[in-house]
Amino acid sequence: MMDNISVSQINLYLLCPLKYRFNYIDKLPKAFKPAELAMGSAMHSAVEWWHKQRQQGNYPEWEQVSRIFEADIQAQAMDEIRFKNGDDKESLIAKGRELLAVYLKEYPGRKPASVELPFRVPLVDLETGEELDVPLDGYFDLIETEDMVVELKTAAKTYDQTTILQHLQLTAYAYAYQVLYKRPANLRLDVLIKSKNVRMQSFEVGRDMQDMVRFFHIAKGVSRAIQDGHFYPNQGWQCPTCEFFETCRKWRT
Ligand code: SF4
Repeated sequence: MMDNISVSQINLYLLCPLKYRFNYIDKLPKAFKPAELAMGSAMHSAVEWWHKQRQQGNYPEWEQVSRIFEADIQAQAMDEIRFKNGDDKESLIAKGRELLAVYLKEYPGRKPASVELPFRVPLVDLETGEELDVPLDGYFDLIETEDMVVELKTAAKTYDQTTILQHLQLTAYAYAYQVLYKRPANLRLDVLIKSKNVRMQSFEVGRDMQDMVRFFHIAKGVSRAIQDGHFYPNQGWQCPTCEFFETCRKWRT
């Protein structure tokens, strides 16, 4: 029996059910951390700190925000970070500083209303009233005034329309906001693109009733599959950077 489910859990199960089991059920130690995950985690820490400062009426300089990022990478490097394409810790820090400079310069939003706000909501089909036996847990990373819920991502290239349309985290935000506050959220996706010329793109995104009902059914399918013990490898592009690759090679039913 599961106590709750999050969008990270749903996304990981959809990516690879066996990886989900290794991570959330077996809780296996990870052999390393992929560099892109280390980057995402450190960016999240630095940006969260910046928004909390802004919420309190402070306006830290880029150098201060960069130091938060660098300290986070150094802490993560106490364990192994797995780099690729000739990158190393120093180049990762340099790229992160570059991304933060663009983010602070081009940030399109208003003053934060909430930063890192946790939520737990029942998972309900908004059309039929059917309710799952697990609630949805998560955090709103950033809510601005006028009900604007913001998701920040770093990516290697521009997001296409399908990726934005199917972005499950945004749909979960829309659903949780509607359930909690009884009014629709406005949604914005800010994407920092890590290409040679770093840039930021912002997309104002819509989610309607159909999207939220579909999200319910995705959560229902995944939570049932987990509770029924369906775990199998889904081999694909994600395997070369999988922390459980060696364990997976020895997997048997
Ligand atoms: S190596 Fe690939 S198939 Fe195996 S657990 Fe990892 S992601 Fe899944």
